[in-house]
Amino acid sequence: MAELFYDADADLSIIQGRKVAVIGYGSQGHAHALSLRDSGVDVRVGLHEGSKSKAKAEEQGLRVVTPSEAAAEADVIMILVPDPIQAKVYEETIAPNLKAGDALFFGHGLNIRFGFIKPPADVDVAMVAPKGPGHLVRRQYEEGRGVPCIAAVEQDASGNAFALALSYAKGIGGTRAGVIKTTFTEETETDLFGEQAVLCGGASALVKAGFETLVEAGYQPEIAYFECLHELKLIVDLMYEGGLEKMRWSVSETAEWGDYVTGPRIITDQTKAEMKKVLGEIQDGTFAKNWMDEYHGGLKKYNEYKTQDAEHKLETTGKELRKLMSWVNDEEA
Ligand code: NDP
Ligand code: MG
Ligand code: MG
Repeated sequence: MAELFYDADADLSIIQGRKVAVIGYGSQGHAHALSLRDSGVDVRVGLHEGSKSKAKAEEQGLRVVTPSEAAAEADVIMILVPDPIQAKVYEETIAPNLKAGDALFFGHGLNIRFGFIKPPADVDVAMVAPKGPGHLVRRQYEEGRGVPCIAAVEQDASGNAFALALSYAKGIGGTRAGVIKTTFTEETETDLFGEQAVLCGGASALVKAGFETLVEAGYQPEIAYFECLHELKLIVDLMYEGGLEKMRWSVSETAEWGDYVTGPRIITDQTKAEMKKVLGEIQDGTFAKNWMDEYHGGLKKYNEYKTQDAEHKLETTGKELRKLMSWVNDEEA
């Protein structure tokens, strides 16, 4: 059974007694820095020369210094720059400023799990990863709620690394919703698998294939868009609220029957065998290596895929239709 921790299990004064550096001010960085500050924590933000978000961080009342200065001043350093550049930022700005007893924090375990970052033995290495996008993490905190987090300790030099991680999670509202204990290995592998096989990769491929099937059969793209993409949110909302059971309670009996007999014809034993292969390539580091090569090789294939999908009829159709639905927010949260 998973170990869960709530507000009463976490001592906010631990993180309030430390100096925290949040490196990066993107989706996660801004949420962590602002909420920690509002929780009475001494925070500085570390941003590189030419950072696009520096002005915003300062406007929001935070002190911005360089990543090196932030790492030197602080004794808890949370790395929230994009995963593919973390190793470089760590080598150049954080490692030279790490002191025995410091804590190195992550929002995702990839660089530790696959050995791109190798911290010295005398620092704590821990993770606090909200299970939601950064803008929601901040909004929920401001509303007195929180996004559930997972927390892990890779290296417990101080003997108190987990209590420190829980305290940090409390500072961003995580313990209001619940914090689950995990490991860097479990978080990294399940996160990569989930986004590839189900949430992003699986879901986009399913939506595209369904849309194409209807359009190729001569149905109107607008109808196909509503059927295969738009309605998916309504179905997923029901799953989120009450699992498959609530979704099936809400849809018609006809839809429920179709779910039982057709679902397994779409996601077949072959699909599941491929999922196992995908998981294997995540576990043995093949995916991480290929992604780092792609990133540092200039993102050629990545940009090709991006352009291809932007020009897909599903996307061009959706763009037009959403203009007519003012309540569908097409902008970043
Ligand atoms: P973003 O891409 O949103 O933000 C990156 C930030 O890093 C930006 O502020 C950027 O600066 C800054 N940055 C870029 N280069 C440097 C540098 N050399 N030195 C200092 N800062 C730099 O990242 P995310 O918030 O999406 O991801 C951060 C971490 O959180 C990752 O480990 C990710 O896996 C994890 N995570 C992300 C989630 C999410 O909701 N996005 C969910 C859970 C975990 P600028 O733009 O100002 O130039
Ligand atoms: Mg992820
Ligand atoms: Mg229907």
